[in-house]
Amino acid sequence: MIRRLQQLEKAASALEPAAGKRKKTRDKVIAYGEEFLTGIESLKAYDYTADKGVGLLDSPVSEQGLDIEQVLDLLKSNVDTHGLNPASGGYLGFIPGGGIYYSALGDYLADVTNRLAALFFGSPGAVRMENMMISWLAGILGFPATAAGNLTSGGSIANLIAVVTARDAKGIGSKKVPVSVIYLTQQTHHSVQKAIRIAGLSECILRYVPMDSQYRMNAGELESAIRSDKKNGFNPFLVVASAGTTDTGAVDPLEKIGEIAAAEGLWFHADAAYGGFFILTEEGKIKLAGIEKADSVSIDPHKGMFLPYGLGAVVVKDMNSLRNSHYYLASYLQDAQGTNEEISPSDLSPELTKHFRGLRMWLPLKLLGTKPFVAALEEKLLLAKYFHREIVKLGFESACEPDLSVVTYRWIPKTGNPDDFNKRLAEEVVKDGRVFISSTVLDGKVTLRLAILSFRTHLKTIRLTLEILREKVELLEG
Ligand SMILES: *Cc1c(COP(=O)(O)O)cnc(C)c1O
Repeated sequence: MIRRLQQLEKAASALEPAAGKRKKTRDKVIAYGEEFLTGIESLKAYDYTADKGVGLLDSPVSEQGLDIEQVLDLLKSNVDTHGLNPASGGYLGFIPGGGIYYSALGDYLADVTNRLAALFFGSPGAVRMENMMISWLAGILGFPATAAGNLTSGGSIANLIAVVTARDAKGIGSKKVPVSVIYLTQQTHHSVQKAIRIAGLSECILRYVPMDSQYRMNAGELESAIRSDKKNGFNPFLVVASAGTTDTGAVDPLEKIGEIAAAEGLWFHADAAYGGFFILTEEGKIKLAGIEKADSVSIDPHKGMFLPYGLGAVVVKDMNSLRNSHYYLASYLQDAQGTNEEISPSDLSPELTKHFRGLRMWLPLKLLGTKPFVAALEEKLLLAKYFHREIVKLGFESACEPDLSVVTYRWIPKTGNPDDFNKRLAEEVVKDGRVFISSTVLDGKVTLRLAILSFRTHLKTIRLTLEILREKVELLEG
């Protein structure tokens, strides 16, 4: 047995590379990252290749490892050269983010030290750090210091946690589900509907509240819908407002929705996954006024703080509601109890063991302070205004001034179907690849959208986009 143990120890020893081997591997990895970053300006925002990285499949997992050069080659030729490049400043589709470098270093340290950020007992420091990030978010949202929350993998899980918390706080057991009502709009992000289904609420009544001409929830319509539902014996319990819709960047009237929700006894969830961080700017504070009335808010650092993918957050005003929905005691965790100086993330989310996400947010905030983030966010708002002004000058139709940093616009061609034309226009821009834009359907019309949220998007990116759009319209108009 001892001999076998010694053999196995030796065979497994590659799992712990020595300092020299670590350095060699690390240097190659760092060099790869540097090549990517120094070339980012010339990399396409979208790269269409016919093979779509299928070559990766020719190198299956095997008993023997490869060396780092071979592995990085596989990565470069099969992963990092195909599809979207969300790290590019030219990535102006869906909702950008970017990927702040210091976050990557935070992830590196979190992975090397592998702290157990799930439990205060496991890593008091890591838990304090994550709770500190939540308190900072609570502070910028105007929530009281007693608020709690969780750093999630993204906005979808943040919305799920909020919906589950609202369900339990309002006592929506299975018998109540069919008579209970949730209010939202056609512009609510689909992750909310997904959360509703996962939370066992798909048999609730979903009321899609009419919107104004700028795709914001009509608060008057919300109020009358709640009243009429109550009169008809239904149980209104949750309103989901968008603080920046994905499609158009519209902000629902949060102040009024907050007042109505409070008066009618509904849980008010604000989905600020995209728009929340604009509250750090002067203009954003005005646009997002009323968000402090929400019972819960989703806000995505991997969007508005430009962090790499993998960080959303939910903040809930009443910690007990959040805890009641997520707390569990297990006998194998009995040694981890007893100390409650700080609440543990695992008591506030579906997760137990998890990535120490706080470090990827804390490190850039500590190194940079908030100032450059605020400046970048203000720049995005201004770039959206600039793009809107210029696109109208070029002859595009654009129904409304942007609320935040998403601009919607479409070209009306001299002849032919405008929907087909705008689809083709988007395709031409995407094929070109220097910038990436996406399209949507608003009021049944194919509409182009420009979402400005990468910290790498600047005036020259927007000027280039305008030039490409003009070029492609000319091409298509013949
Ligand atoms: C992006 C987004 C989500 C979903 O967030 P993920 O981080 O992609 O899971 C939810 N709501 C809104 C408004 C969003 O923009």
